[in-house]
Amino acid sequence: MVLIVGEERQEKIAPITYDLIGEGKELAEKIEEGVDCAYIGNRKNAGELLHYGLDRVFLLESDEFIEEEGASSLASLIEKIKPTIVLIGATNRGRSLAPRLAVKLETGLTADCTGLEINEKGEFLQIRPAFGGNVMATIVTKTLPKMATVRYKVMDRAHRTDEKSGSIQDVEPVPYNKKKILNLYPIEERGDITEAEIIISGGKGLGKKDGFKLIEEFANVLGGVVGASRKAVDDGWIDYSHQVGLSGRTVKPKLYIACGISGSVQHLAGMQTSEHIVAINENEAAPIFKVADVGILGDLYEIIPRLIDEVEEYRKKMGS
Ligand SMILES: Cc1cc2nc3c(=O)[nH]c(=O)nc-3n(C[C@H](O)[C@H](O)[C@H](O)COP(=O)(O)OP(=O)(O)OC[C@H]3O[C@@H](n4cnc5c(N)ncnc54)[C@H](O)[C@@H]3O)c2cc1C
Repeated sequence: MVLIVGEERQEKIAPITYDLIGEGKELAEKIEEGVDCAYIGNRKNAGELLHYGLDRVFLLESDEFIEEEGASSLASLIEKIKPTIVLIGATNRGRSLAPRLAVKLETGLTADCTGLEINEKGEFLQIRPAFGGNVMATIVTKTLPKMATVRYKVMDRAHRTDEKSGSIQDVEPVPYNKKKILNLYPIEERGDITEAEIIISGGKGLGKKDGFKLIEEFANVLGGVVGASRKAVDDGWIDYSHQVGLSGRTVKPKLYIACGISGSVQHLAGMQTSEHIVAINENEAAPIFKVADVGILGDLYEIIPRLIDEVEEYRKKMGS
């Protein structure tokens, strides 16, 4: 059986859960087994999950998430139901939960997978970028259960049906009181970059921390959110939660505008599946232009203010 670990964020089912169910069902079909979900959150959301073709939803009812407690309770559940494969989101929470769970279960864990397959021998293949994204490694775990964390938005999500199937089974919490999360604050008012439809990203080409004020203004005018390259994050110009790429977030917005970003393989790994890519760069040989649908060659400090004026002018004309 394939067990996916569903997540709750601000009292809603976190979108990664639907990706995991979609992928879990595909894998389960190939190994001719069922799909269960372990869900840490509220009962109402657990009930909603029954519309996604699961066999069982194991509910650890909780209004807060404590990694150690979650890992202890899930480890005890997994020891009981013995799934072959366990899939967890490569989210902040999943990245914190999965290694704890792997240690408790004394099993292997492949982090940050971008592809999962079952080969003709029935082996579970876990595919993820390695060596700075230059090669895709295929990993086969020998121990059971085979555990993987999966990147958001790289798998096909499950679709809701009107009918319900399966049942909810309560999981006995295993208490662990060392640490308590008192509150969770949203990363940004306009939301997480992984959810955004429009992202304006700034890179080292901004030249200084203050350059992000211009990126923020551009994002506000377009109703988007701010992203960044790792160099901008490493220089302390912006928080890590904005980083796009291999060691940051994977994003798939309708519009991605890269400003002063060269387009390293590691950056592209996180944004190249965006629907439309615009690049602003003063170097015509910058690799970002190879993936861009629209390339604007020039100084971003001249181009962005002009684009902001154009958008505002257009808005005025359209009366919005
Ligand atoms: C294991 C590993 C993981 C990594 N993970 C990530 C990751 O998740 N995300 C990520 O982004 N990187 C990641 N990197 C780093 C990556 O290799 C690059 O170093 C980084 O992406 C470069 O950032 P940048 O494009 O902002 O800077 P640069 O490569 O320095 O590019 C700056 C660009 O700005 C342009 N420019 C300069 N001034 C202007 C101007 N005034 N107007 C217009 N254009 C201008 C330049 O022509 C240049 O193309 C990772 C590296 C490793 C080894």
